[in-house]
Amino acid sequence: MIYCYAFRGFEGDLISVEVDIRRGIPALDVVGLPDSAVREARERVRIALKRGGFEMPLQRILINLSPAGVKKEGARYDLSMALAILRASGNLPDPGEPLLVLGELQLDGKVRPVRGVISAVSEASRQGIRRFIVPTENLPEAQTAAEGLVHSLDSLDRVSKVWKELIEGRGEVCDKEREGLGENPYPDLADLKGQPLCRRVLELAAAGRHNLLLFGPPGCGKTMSARRLPGLLPPLTKEESLDVTRIWSQAGSLEEGTGLINWPPFRMPHHSASLQGMVGGSSAVIPGEISLAHRGILFLDETPEFHTPILQGLREPVENGTVRITRAGKSYWFPADFQLVMAANPCPCGNLGRESSSCICTTKEIERYWRRIGGALMDRIDLRLPLKPVGGEALLGREEESSRLVRERVTCAWEIQRRRHEKESFIWNSRISVNRLNDYCQLDGRGKATFLRGMKKLSLSSRASHSVLRVARTAADLDLCEKIGEEHILEALQYRRYGDRDIFWGKL
Ligand SMILES: [Zn+2]
Repeated sequence: MIYCYAFRGFEGDLISVEVDIRRGIPALDVVGLPDSAVREARERVRIALKRGGFEMPLQRILINLSPAGVKKEGARYDLSMALAILRASGNLPDPGEPLLVLGELQLDGKVRPVRGVISAVSEASRQGIRRFIVPTENLPEAQTAAEGLVHSLDSLDRVSKVWKELIEGRGEVCDKEREGLGENPYPDLADLKGQPLCRRVLELAAAGRHNLLLFGPPGCGKTMSARRLPGLLPPLTKEESLDVTRIWSQAGSLEEGTGLINWPPFRMPHHSASLQGMVGGSSAVIPGEISLAHRGILFLDETPEFHTPILQGLREPVENGTVRITRAGKSYWFPADFQLVMAANPCPCGNLGRESSSCICTTKEIERYWRRIGGALMDRIDLRLPLKPVGGEALLGREEESSRLVRERVTCAWEIQRRRHEKESFIWNSRISVNRLNDYCQLDGRGKATFLRGMKKLSLSSRASHSVLRVARTAADLDLCEKIGEEHILEALQYRRYGDRDIFWGKL
């Protein structure tokens, strides 16, 4: 039996491709809820088979894609239908084993790569399939997840040769051992000079996976800082790698010849992005930017400029780590467990807090500008840091610590969290649930007194005070302290001073 694969959001189903050939007026029909691309496949398959040197049987051919209830989209079924016809018409011998076949056909018989190969191959492997035929461009990707032998095909005229190898049990054996992780691909923190507070906040953000807001006039280094955050995160685990690669492959964002994605992704969508591009969708249900940032970082530069429905739509994934998309009455989901980093000017004109020029915005305008982010989303930002432009001397200053050194401390803090939260559904401090805060965020005597004083002085909401405890927990973990002390609380408090309704931004 020949199988193909249909997506259902992040998940999907194996589709069996059955062919019935009987006497009658020569025709080719496809049944089983195919969309128009699958129906168009009839023509492509017919012409491609001919160019590949095969004769279409002059009989009535019926292709049944089952289960029938699953919607089948795109051209990914071409190759499986072509091979199923060749098999049913006796042009190819019985392979003796179930087989997963993926690939789109060009009219000249060439096989084109398809999206989502890793998802299809994982699911087929899970269901016991051990033979795979994939487009040559998708081979590295298929090898990361397939159990068994993978064959690659670039053109229909090579199908007999590949089929022979398949029957003889020769093919690319998948090396399940992980190849090297490769170099961390992100710019180095050593370039960020004269911003000690910003370097520290990036380290805290990385260590506890806290959401972060950087604000300040244009040119103060917000984007440069944000781009250096992913370089502080440890590599993905094997399981995370597979999930991230699956999402990228499904979105068609995986570069050709790429195997697994090993480092946390960094996504920086433009503020003109559409809601569909951000959360996912389109008729084919493709993952959006927030899912491409799964296990990595979603960076929104000039956050208040993003469309309001997008900013509102972020609240749920930030809370749950997944996103739901509804299309044609059906609901699909994708993982979207990202760390949110927002950057913003301090006011619409951008000059607030700048020494050389003055801000021309009214208090009302500034308030309206910040309100665009929305209280609900702002509430979920543990770390908020004002940045100022750095003078020339600082840029010539001493050598700063590199990403690699900071990443070592972050890795250590992650280990502490993994062990401490072993029995929980969360790993990182930023995700400690409210009912577990008392257990995991224990304060020493002075820490407690400072916390109560700070809450009163800044009149923090209960959500804000939870946020302070989570950040203080991360600061204590970086110091390898079991109990949270005064210095950890003081540090956490200073990053929560900005952005809530009762704080006036003009005080910068
Ligand atoms: Zn202004």
